[in-house]
Amino acid sequence: MKLSIIPAPTVAGYLQGYTKAQEKVNEVYESRIPPEGYSLHIENSITLKASTKAGFFYGNQTLSQIKSQCGQNLQNCHIEDSPKYKYRGFMIDSARHFFTVKEIKRMIDNCAKFRFNVFHWHLTDDQGWRIEIKKYPEIIKIGSVRYGNYFRNEQNEKIYGGYYTQEQIKEVVSYAHENFMRVVPEIDMPGHTSALLAAVPSLCCGGKEVKVKTSAGIFKDIVCPGKESSYKILFDILDEVINIFPDEYIHIGGDEAPKNQWKSCPDCQFKILREHLKDEEALQGYFINRIAEYLESRGKKTVTWNDSLKSGNLKDSVTVQLWMDKKGLCNKCSNEIIASDFYHCYTDYPYAMTPLKKAYEYEPELNGKVMGLETPVWTEYISNINYMEYMCFPRFIATAQRAWSKNKIPYKEFKEQLYELSEYFSIKGMAPYKDWDPPKAERPKEIISHFGSIAPNEKIRKLFSDKNK
Ligand SMILES: [Zn+2]
Repeated sequence: MKLSIIPAPTVAGYLQGYTKAQEKVNEVYESRIPPEGYSLHIENSITLKASTKAGFFYGNQTLSQIKSQCGQNLQNCHIEDSPKYKYRGFMIDSARHFFTVKEIKRMIDNCAKFRFNVFHWHLTDDQGWRIEIKKYPEIIKIGSVRYGNYFRNEQNEKIYGGYYTQEQIKEVVSYAHENFMRVVPEIDMPGHTSALLAAVPSLCCGGKEVKVKTSAGIFKDIVCPGKESSYKILFDILDEVINIFPDEYIHIGGDEAPKNQWKSCPDCQFKILREHLKDEEALQGYFINRIAEYLESRGKKTVTWNDSLKSGNLKDSVTVQLWMDKKGLCNKCSNEIIASDFYHCYTDYPYAMTPLKKAYEYEPELNGKVMGLETPVWTEYISNINYMEYMCFPRFIATAQRAWSKNKIPYKEFKEQLYELSEYFSIKGMAPYKDWDPPKAERPKEIISHFGSIAPNEKIRKLFSDKNK
């Protein structure tokens, strides 16, 4: 029989005959096998070889998928497998909408089934700051709460809030580790910082008053990189982040930071003159580099979104995460890249816009600089775990397969296998098969309805609001 295995193994050969499913699994350590890789031989007995615990974990996942299809008699086979990329990530935005520790663990459980090994946790944004910082208790007191919700069909003046204590975060990190997953926190700066600025106004140019935002968007209030006091506060915050996240990488955002205020801020303009910077974009490069140098001094590597490449002076040692790179700067730079292109990897847009096929066919060509792939879910318009699962699965799985598998099997085959295994994977909120690739004729209507339902104009929004989401 033909076996369905997701993510697809590097090599899978079928052998004559069958082996009893209840045979004990002989786990053998073998140093030649690459980290995270494994070799599985089923023929009268079951032998699983690997050189790391993760390798045994992944090998057992494959075996379990085979068992789910074969019942009592396992198809004899030999499988050799190891990952294409060392970084296979998914991102959850806990800032726009808050998800409980239990819900985050549920997402980790789902993702571990597909060999994701990095959970990128977006913890701060304009609409909420979700990580406890003990030195500045006002950040949680003020920054984790917003007074009103104006996100699609969620239109009300209710107070919305939530945050993770440092103990809860440690619990999530250790849970992820049990699933052979690292956790990379993102503390977004200098933009997407309204929640932080609301709590610590001195971080803003001119120290103006800012409110935690209650709707989606890009906002002009951003951190002032001209003032030395900004760095002091940010380093204090990052010190606490470093203490609870053992991973080598810290993500510091860097996306969508409008420079309007920097242009008229005396501190920012003085910094540009003093540091001989070309313009405000170069000031962002200076800012990101300063933070990265601090993190390096604490033994950490920095990740920033590709917007920081516009500065023209970003340090080579900073890892760049590509989300939208219209100018092709990721091609020209010499930084290491995490590829998560908006058009293929973002799962917060409808299937009509990013069908499963489009997610599956992502192939970043970046001159060998790609460290790995990532699929993010932004949650401006996702306020509960079931809908998050619907949006992420199966699109997350397409990215997982592309990140793991060196064996590029045709899309049609992948989709059939996934359908075969969907009961086995048992993801509660997963989208039904019919939604994975909506018929082309129906797509424009669904896309218009999506963008209509999130339109800033209330009348338009009401016309399109979808009560089911
Ligand atoms: Zn400033």
